[in-house]
Amino acid sequence: MMIRHLLVVCATVLSVVQAGKHDIYSGHSVYGVHVRSKAHQMLLHDLEPILDLDVWQHGIISEREAFIRVAPENKEHFLNALDEEGIKHYVHLEDVAQTLEQRDNEMNSWRASRRNRMLFNDYPRYDEINAFMDRIALQHPSLVRVVTAGKSFEGRDIKYLKISTSNFEDSSKPIYMLTAMIHAREWVTTPTLLYSVHRLVENLRSQDRDLREDIDWIIMPLLNPDGYEYSHTTERLWRKTRSHRPEINATCWGVDGNRNYDSVNFGLIGASSNPCSDIYPGPEPFSEVETAYVRDVLLEHVDRIQIFMDVHSYGNYITYGYGDGSLPPNPVELHLVSAVMGAAIDIYKLPEAYFYRVGNSGILMYPTAGCAQDYAQSIGVPSR
Ligand SMILES: [Zn+2]
Repeated sequence: MMIRHLLVVCATVLSVVQAGKHDIYSGHSVYGVHVRSKAHQMLLHDLEPILDLDVWQHGIISEREAFIRVAPENKEHFLNALDEEGIKHYVHLEDVAQTLEQRDNEMNSWRASRRNRMLFNDYPRYDEINAFMDRIALQHPSLVRVVTAGKSFEGRDIKYLKISTSNFEDSSKPIYMLTAMIHAREWVTTPTLLYSVHRLVENLRSQDRDLREDIDWIIMPLLNPDGYEYSHTTERLWRKTRSHRPEINATCWGVDGNRNYDSVNFGLIGASSNPCSDIYPGPEPFSEVETAYVRDVLLEHVDRIQIFMDVHSYGNYITYGYGDGSLPPNPVELHLVSAVMGAAIDIYKLPEAYFYRVGNSGILMYPTAGCAQDYAQSIGVPSR
């Protein structure tokens, strides 16, 4: 009884402290937009920087609607532009601030109702994620090594795990490399990789033994800890890093890490030169230490990496380069692996979730440059 009473008190205090936490999104709405042609898709793409649109889902022509967050001051312009082109739309979320507050309350009651909290059933914070990695390496020293790539812009350690039954010394084994959370608000991606680690190390099914025996793994579950923590404490929908360059812009922070890799057309496609934009690629490739660490790990192991996956949310897609819609020399191979992967995941998907779609990211979704997938492809992943 006492404990229960305490919980209620804590929850009340918490909700008082948290009240108004999401006020910056007050009056923001998310619209569902039916894209019926490439022209519709391109119109949204063109409006994105002008109206500071926040695209939650890009949509697939005549198949999946796009979901777009619009600030109150831009709604009229946005809706007029859609109506002029005859593009159908509806209100998906009326008020984003209210939706986020509801979601926080649901999460808090869910947590209060749980006796045993598994890290990957929740959205663990930076300290818990690092503690998980340290603990698993300590308990499985012959299988797991934790490596610190370096510090983030704000000085947090960026760690990753190397999982191998042969200490990475058997050069005949392929390496699979998984990264997540370069985009700070995509909270579901880190627990997904932590769960993969848990399954590989602590809960391997006998039929999956080859995954552990025959493959070396590099798993980087939290690439952008500064942005991630900021999305917990201050702005839920923060996407970028938290670098600050007052000589370029005194009032805006951060770079879109998934536009910051070195690639053809860096900064010219699917990006904005405005440092305040959510898709600002940074002043130059690898201006962000967070992406430079991924580059360094990729280059160190490029001869053996056969799969590199940078995990994002949301939308059920497996995509490959190049971001500008052109194809690398191995598209059939990439498409086949993606299709097999997507079909395998589809077996377990929730009934209300979309089936996985696979394809070139520039053709299937929207053109970009400076993405992780393009960089890895360009330096020779998958290895021959
Ligand atoms: Zn993302």
